[in-house]
Amino acid sequence: MDNLFELLEEQIKDIYSAENQILKALPKMAKAANSLELKKAFETHRAETEQHVKRLTQIAEQLKIKPTGKKCKAMEGLVEEGKEVIEEEGEDSVIDAALIAAAQKVEHYEISAYGSARALAEKLGEEEVADLLQETLDEESATDEKLTQICETIVASAPLREGEESEDESGSEEDSDEEGRPSPRGGREAR
Ligand code: FE
Ligand code: FE
Repeated sequence: MDNLFELLEEQIKDIYSAENQILKALPKMAKAANSLELKKAFETHRAETEQHVKRLTQIAEQLKIKPTGKKCKAMEGLVEEGKEVIEEEGEDSVIDAALIAAAQKVEHYEISAYGSARALAEKLGEEEVADLLQETLDEESATDEKLTQICETIVASAPLREGEESEDESGSEEDSDEEGRPSPRGGREAR
């Protein structure tokens, strides 16, 4: 790897592999989701992901490279973790929250990968490629935010600890961090 173009080529191959892996996993995530809203979100993102793969093909043509030939090991691991959640049994809302946590790790990986690739494309003067990468990056970010919103609704009625009812009414703001994710302790002390 002797220059930034070669690095960009490697990054595109990695993302292409990552997108194809998550494309196969998303229908399984949708099937495992209990909330209809979450199911829909996974299905919508599956359709978007098809577009992401198409864009990468377009990018590869533009750069005169092949997008194939690499396996993204990070996505392999993230999908594997998603599989563990799918096989898990338990309270519907808690399983959904676990699916969202797994899915958001994927989105964050993609956001990071697309951000790096876009910066490289810009540095190389590949404006069209940079724009295509940014388009996908925006969709990954929007999905991430949507999942945060859905999770807030889902955890509002989720049981907090063994033997306790949910704290439906206890307000959600104090129970979330700035990003809107539920706090790891599940909010107010209920002892
Ligand atoms: Fe994607
Ligand atoms: Fe994505």
